Amino acid sequence: MNFDISENQTMIAQMIRDFGEKEIRPKMMEWDEAQEFPIDLFKKLGGLGLMGVLVPEKYNGSGFGYHEYVTAIVELSKIDGSIGLSMAAHNSLCTGHIMQFGNETQKEKYLPKLATGEWIGAWGLTEPNTGSDAGNMKTVAVQDGDYYVINGAKNFITHGKSGDVAVVIVRTGEVGDSHGMTAFVVERGTPGFTGGRKENKLGMRASETAEMIFDNCRVHKDQMLGNVGEGFIQSMKILDGGRISIAALSLGIAEGAYLAALQYAQERHQFNQPIAKFQGISFKLADMATKIEAAKLLIYQAADLKNKGKSVNKESAMAKLYASEIAVEVANEAVQIFGGYGFTKDYPVEKFYRDVKLCTIGEGTSEIQKLVISRAILK
Ligand SMILES: Cc1cc2nc3c(=O)[nH]c(=O)nc-3n(C[C@H](O)[C@H](O)[C@H](O)COP(=O)(O)OP(=O)(O)OC[C@H]3O[C@@H](n4cnc5c(N)ncnc54)[C@H](O)[C@@H]3O)c2cc1C
Repeated sequence: MNFDISENQTMIAQMIRDFGEKEIRPKMMEWDEAQEFPIDLFKKLGGLGLMGVLVPEKYNGSGFGYHEYVTAIVELSKIDGSIGLSMAAHNSLCTGHIMQFGNETQKEKYLPKLATGEWIGAWGLTEPNTGSDAGNMKTVAVQDGDYYVINGAKNFITHGKSGDVAVVIVRTGEVGDSHGMTAFVVERGTPGFTGGRKENKLGMRASETAEMIFDNCRVHKDQMLGNVGEGFIQSMKILDGGRISIAALSLGIAEGAYLAALQYAQERHQFNQPIAKFQGISFKLADMATKIEAAKLLIYQAADLKNKGKSVNKESAMAKLYASEIAVEVANEAVQIFGGYGFTKDYPVEKFYRDVKLCTIGEGTSEIQKLVISRAILK
């Protein structure tokens, strides 16, 4: 495995740092407090090629691989995890699903709009009563001639209200049959498809999380991705790749919190010396730095395999499990190093601390990652 940072990665990192300092950092606490999804920012990210990082250039994407994708998410999330989360969900889930399983007509229709940020994408698997157990979903699609009529609701969907287009996985067969689900692309404005309640969240508050409601929503069979019965299996493959992006999101938040704590520990004096001189603090920083490096290795291993077209089922689960768990620990220690100031909104670590918890939950909880890993190593 090659750990050298490529020229493209260096260029992307610098571009995002410059953009982030100007366009994200000055406004991110306002978005957080108001729980505002800054949709115009994502149009600008589209202009930078960050809404179609993995999309081939022929569909107006950037045509990069997973190393560049990881770099982009890490750099955005070092500043604001909400922006990293929305960017990752748009790229990996909605756009990724159409790119991987759409036919040529569907790719030509949707990918250029998604890759440029003209359209924001959503991806709906989770339902109110079926999260980890997504295969038990209740939203149904019943065939009626050339159309399918969708009824039901998806919840916790990133861009569930603001998304211009959604990939939605619905039941077309028996409950309990992994071949009983099918994926469709549904455009905003299709009669019977509406956004529902927006969640009021602990963290990731600038990333919109909302219900999607389907009430006799008629979708032409040409909107199906792949074939009838392939939706659940497609989704599991999409999540295998998506988990690399949530691991990168975790890494970015961990790095952001660690760097803030590293600087603060050298500036803050107590007992006539910088607090970094106390072994109790310097050892925390040593642990944080070590965990971050270990997470990075797991993430780049998974990214490397993905670039080579190999299975990443176990490796992406390991990267996501480890990176998200250590990111929670790192953010917690960062707040501790800041002391009382870490508990205030004057410093960035309280936001990292709130945002990071999503990483052990979204795209499969830590327990579900352990299920995936144990199945892979026990077979
Ligand atoms: C901010 C945010 C954004 C999201 N974005 C999207 C999105 O864009 N699209 C989408 O489809 N979904 C999205 N989700 C949903 C997310 O993927 C689910 O919340 C997640 O998969 C967990 O499902 P659940 O919340 O129903 O928890 P549950 O499945 O009810 O789990 C509750 C607890 O039980 C544990 N548990 C469940 N099953 C097992 C088991 N077999 N063994 C051991 N423990 C188990 C879990 O680990 C967890 O600790 C989002 C969620 C959030 C919070």
